[in-house]
Amino acid sequence: MRASPDRVDLVRIMPFILLHLGCLGAIWVGWSPVAVWTAVGLYFLRMFAVTAIHHRYFSHKTYSTSRPVQFLLALWAGTTVQRGSLWWAYHHRHHHAHSDGPEDAHSPHVHGFLWSHIGWITSRRNFPTDYSTIKDLAKFPELVWLNRFDLVVPILFATSIYGGGELLAHFAPALGTNGLQMLVWGFFISTTFLFHGTACIYSMAHLMGRPRFKTDDDSRNSFILALITLGEGWHNNHHRYQSATRNGFYWWEFDPTYYGLKALSWTGLIWGLKAVPKSVLEEGSHADHHSSVAAAHRAAVRAEHSPLRRVVPAAAAIAVATVNSANTGLAPKTVAPTVHHQDPSSAPAQNRAHSPRTGPSSQVGGSGQA
Ligand SMILES: [Zn+2]
Ligand SMILES: [Zn+2]
Repeated sequence: MRASPDRVDLVRIMPFILLHLGCLGAIWVGWSPVAVWTAVGLYFLRMFAVTAIHHRYFSHKTYSTSRPVQFLLALWAGTTVQRGSLWWAYHHRHHHAHSDGPEDAHSPHVHGFLWSHIGWITSRRNFPTDYSTIKDLAKFPELVWLNRFDLVVPILFATSIYGGGELLAHFAPALGTNGLQMLVWGFFISTTFLFHGTACIYSMAHLMGRPRFKTDDDSRNSFILALITLGEGWHNNHHRYQSATRNGFYWWEFDPTYYGLKALSWTGLIWGLKAVPKSVLEEGSHADHHSSVAAAHRAAVRAEHSPLRRVVPAAAAIAVATVNSANTGLAPKTVAPTVHHQDPSSAPAQNRAHSPRTGPSSQVGGSGQA
């Protein structure tokens, strides 16, 4: 399968088409506050699973846990409907090994935006998991089973949401929801947004934002992407140093996934969170310093030619002229007397200027005669 051509496979794209079509169900089932809030809540709960479990645990092993909790984490990550954790980790490690090179499965620079966002995941070539390259994970049969039958958890999850909606319809009819409505919002809409939120890291995180570190790829740091993905937007930081539990390296880099993992570590369920080495932090501070000096220099050079500098005085001049003309009455009345007061012999022209039948051309003519 890895030798298959890199193109959209009809079989592999069907789940994505169904997922998106399922969102249209809202036309028939309507909405209710409880259904919408469920969709929002499940988006963030499962985005946390994508970043904290698929990415920071299985792909990079940035913290440790026990085997039972590892299994529970894999179940939680299974609800994200992004195939198994082992598939995810294999492809993600491959991305780091070949970032923005021809072998990278989802580089927007090599394959274009659409391919890096969704195309690559529908390719037959990217369907298998190469267990030989992720032996540290493949040694757990329960994880391999979940990866092999990666539809089991999503089906159970969707069924539970439907069941929850039916229970609410029965026991709390005032909420105005039912099984189908909860299924559309809690599963289809929430999962579709979750997919695109995650896919923004495959595509946008190598296009949008600024790089702090010089890496071999085109990864960027973006606050907006960090908001959507609970901290994964600090992608350039992460490409510089992948083993740290946090992607936001500094306190001002919003990284809710890290805060959540830190809180989990206090329960004792997970431990051994890995810090960013001091040398990397210092390297980043120097890079920040150099980039702000360069930015200040660019701003000083551009200031002379800044369009804003030209626009603001022009706008101010127009505003002053408008106010003056409003205070002194109609423009022709003010212009004509000023010109003609200088020469008393032009009195007839001044009279013509007051006539409604005469326009500016007659004033010019009058001045010419004068
Ligand atoms: Zn990347
Ligand atoms: Zn990574």
